[in-house]
Amino acid sequence: MTDAIAQLIARAGEQLGAKAVIADPRDIEPWVTDWRGRVHGATRAIFAPASTEDVATVVKLAAEHRVPLVPQGGNTGMSAGATPPADGSAILLSMRRMNRIRSIGAQDRLAVAEAGVVLATLHDAAHEIGMRFPLTLGARGSCTIGGLTSTNAGGTQVLKFGTMRSLVAGLEAVLPDGSIHNGLSGLKKDNRGYSIDQLLIGAEGTLGVVTAVALRLVPAVAARAVAWAGVESPASALDLLRFIEARTGTVEGFELVPHDSLNLVLKHVPGTRAPLGKAHPWHVLVEAATADPQHDILGELETLLGAALDQGIITDAVIASSEVQADAFWKLRDSISEAERAEGQTLAHDISVAVADMPRFLVDASGEVERAFPGVVASGFGHLGDGNIHFHVRAGSHAAPDWYEREGAEITRFVDALVTAAGGSISAEHGIGQLKRAEFARLADPARVHALRAIKQALDPLGIMNPGKLVP
Ligand SMILES: Cc1cc2nc3c(=O)[nH]c(=O)nc-3n(C[C@H](O)[C@H](O)[C@H](O)COP(=O)(O)OP(=O)(O)OC[C@H]3O[C@@H](n4cnc5c(N)ncnc54)[C@H](O)[C@@H]3O)c2cc1C
Repeated sequence: MTDAIAQLIARAGEQLGAKAVIADPRDIEPWVTDWRGRVHGATRAIFAPASTEDVATVVKLAAEHRVPLVPQGGNTGMSAGATPPADGSAILLSMRRMNRIRSIGAQDRLAVAEAGVVLATLHDAAHEIGMRFPLTLGARGSCTIGGLTSTNAGGTQVLKFGTMRSLVAGLEAVLPDGSIHNGLSGLKKDNRGYSIDQLLIGAEGTLGVVTAVALRLVPAVAARAVAWAGVESPASALDLLRFIEARTGTVEGFELVPHDSLNLVLKHVPGTRAPLGKAHPWHVLVEAATADPQHDILGELETLLGAALDQGIITDAVIASSEVQADAFWKLRDSISEAERAEGQTLAHDISVAVADMPRFLVDASGEVERAFPGVVASGFGHLGDGNIHFHVRAGSHAAPDWYEREGAEITRFVDALVTAAGGSISAEHGIGQLKRAEFARLADPARVHALRAIKQALDPLGIMNPGKLVP
């Protein structure tokens, strides 16, 4: 195997040029650990192709030498899918040099971006032509279009625009035999059987290398309104969402924040303050946006929240009076994980159940976890309208320093079993990667596992595309 890797590195250098082969350990080192710093891998080289043809060359060479490739974009994924195995048996395939926006247009509302384009760069390019790519998330300054596509990322605007799956109009990819699939025509209708594009979305680099993606754009935001409301329960929060949705189509973000999470943010994150005067058991952050400059979005949200207050759905609410205040509300939501880390050890679970079931699940599961593991604090926050909650379990104040290592796996198994029993998913947004593969294998139904394995075997019989990830 070692000889095969050395030969592959030499041949890639000959065929792609020195710039495309990174072999200095100092240049490799920053890219072999996952974003959370939990999984450490190793590789003899990083290949950094600059074109689709170069990617096809690399994949053909890798197949010939039977050396696996691990595709990588910004390395911000949460499941260590882009981290190579620790034994150095694979080559890291960095897509960051493929960073051109090939085309962008307001008329066809499409952008064709190469896999290595950073999300924030696409946002800026869309903004320049009066358009918007509506998916956004905390890692937008580093994550890439290829990574977002390969993890079917979500973010804060899924409620209105869906995940990557609904924003990808087509894609170009190099398949494991080195052939190039071209799905960039952006056809609205195309019923030629299985969708190769959709198969590659969320495939985590196990079925091929995404080289470019056609992405749907929407008109730029003319105005937004951001509000913070107090509610008695997650059920009331969902009532509020449905109440607003029945009266306007402008809501894009709807985030649930428990009292406990808000308190941690206020305690640990400098410059934050509670939006409402009194304490409430639960809070909701609502963001509404419009592309129509004549639309009084602030007035509309104010009227709707007033009516919700009159009907007893919410207990209080405030609307941000400026962009600065709107950002301050979002900062409270976005700082929860950071505040939890400052407080102590936390186990994170990115889970989903049916939207209508989430309020009950959240309350029941928190109680069950706290009863089963005395001393821990369990709660959930996040995208209630998507049925996707970040269900976090914090160590109690007297927990041992190695609580995470000693009890983490057992608590996670407990939570995952509750989610599965509720018909939910143990990975709503972050994929399976290597971190959730064992749990996926334990809990997925046999039909799903069989289909995944069959697809993997059919497209990648040599097992050279990101082995050890996703597929149980
Ligand atoms: C602060 C922060 C906030 C986040 N918030 C969210 C959120 O709200 N919602 C959400 O869904 N996710 C979120 N994420 C995680 C999210 O999955 C990643 O940000 C993003 O989707 C991964 O992009 P990347 O370029 O970093 O991919 P990487 O981490 O490099 O790779 C991720 C996976 O995709 C594969 N891959 C990468 N590029 C390609 C390619 N060109 N072809 C084939 N396979 C490829 C890799 O092999 C790996 O399996 C967040 C991450 C951070 C750090």
